[in-house]
Amino acid sequence: MGKGRMDKLLDTKFHDPYMDKTIYKDPTICPVCKLVYHDKTWHRDAVLYKKYKDHPATHFKECPACRKIKDNFPLGIVILEGNFIKNNQNAKQEILNLIRHEAEKEELSNPLARIMKIEEKEGFIEIWTTTEGLASKIGKAVYKAYHGELNFTFSDDQKLLRIYWRREL
Ligand SMILES: [Zn+2]
Repeated sequence: MGKGRMDKLLDTKFHDPYMDKTIYKDPTICPVCKLVYHDKTWHRDAVLYKKYKDHPATHFKECPACRKIKDNFPLGIVILEGNFIKNNQNAKQEILNLIRHEAEKEELSNPLARIMKIEEKEGFIEIWTTTEGLASKIGKAVYKAYHGELNFTFSDDQKLLRIYWRREL
């Protein structure tokens, strides 16, 4: 896969229907995960949370990530397949650890980027993410560490990024 093509795909204006900022008032706290919406951004910040949790001006509403999880609405899906993970439990565990680590790193810079679920199905593993950016990072990290084949596809309405990674040997 050419790098240029992939970057162009990811540059296309990605429409996240949960990121409409007009629906959140400043400050808002997510009652599920305790993120704080302030200055047009969501923060994972214990000091801000403490400051606003009992503040009379604070609004309470679920953040975009928690709403996507509740609605089962992923923006990215990564599918891992092939004999390399099917026949090798150690490799599979290593890859799953790498993916969790990648998600932890991403969450530091974007607290709305989360893994929604990791499901092992017959012959493949499916990972759902709340952002297309996290799915992309996971796909690239697996490819960088384990090679194989990597393919990106967008749904026609540009609302879902699907990434397929495959390695046979
Ligand atoms: Zn939340």
